[in-house]
Amino acid sequence: MDTKRDAFRRVWLVLAGFCAAAGLVLVLCVTARSQIPDTVGRLLTAEETAQVVARNSPMTAYVYLSPNADFPRGDTIQKVTVHHMAGDLALEAVGASFAQRDRRASANYGIDSSGRVALYVEERDRAWSSGSVENDSQAVTIEVANDEVGGAWHVSDAAYETLIELCADICRRNGIEELRYTGDETGTLTIHSMFSSETECPGPYLTGRMAELAAAVNSRLEET
Ligand SMILES: [Zn+2]
Repeated sequence: MDTKRDAFRRVWLVLAGFCAAAGLVLVLCVTARSQIPDTVGRLLTAEETAQVVARNSPMTAYVYLSPNADFPRGDTIQKVTVHHMAGDLALEAVGASFAQRDRRASANYGIDSSGRVALYVEERDRAWSSGSVENDSQAVTIEVANDEVGGAWHVSDAAYETLIELCADICRRNGIEELRYTGDETGTLTIHSMFSSETECPGPYLTGRMAELAAAVNSRLEET
C-alpha cells in the first residue's frame, strides 16, 4: 500500500512540477509580447503617426511599424547601416513584408525610388537588419530601393539624394559628429555585407558610393 501511495505522490509531484514549468513559460511569453508596443503591425491614426514621427526623422512620409525588433535597442545610436531592397519596391510592400513575424527581418527606415521615406522600426528600437546584434544595436538601418534589378543594383538619383539627407538628419538628432566609411565594421557608416559573407547587400552600385556618401553627409553636418 505504502509503495503505491509513494508512487502516486511521485506522479503528482512530477505533474505539479510540469504545470509550474508550463506556467512559467506562459508568463515569460506574455511578458515578452507585452514589450511590443501597440503601435506595431497596423495602420496608425493621424495623431499616432504624428507622435511616432516626432520621435524619429521628420522626413518620414509613411509609417508601418514591424514587430521584428528589440524594444528598446540595447545600445546608443552611433552608426548608420545601408542596405538595398533587392527590388524596386513600394514602401507599403516593404512594410507588409516586415510585418510578417516569420520573416524575422526589418530595418529602421526605407527609401523608395522617388525618394519617399518610410519608418518601420523606431530609432529607439533595434531593427533586425544586418545579421549582427552588435551592429544593429548601435546603428540606424536604411533599406534603399533599386531602380535596376540585378547587375550593379543601381538606385535612383532621388533615392540617393534622400539617403544623404536622411543620414545627415539621423546624425544631427543623435549627436553623431561625422560618418566614417572605413570599408569594414569599425567605421560609423557600415553596410550589410560587412557582417555576412552570404549577401552582396547593398550591391556594387551603393557599395561603390559609400565613401562619397560619408563625405556628402559630413559636408552637410558642417553646414549646420
Ligand atoms: Zn541588407
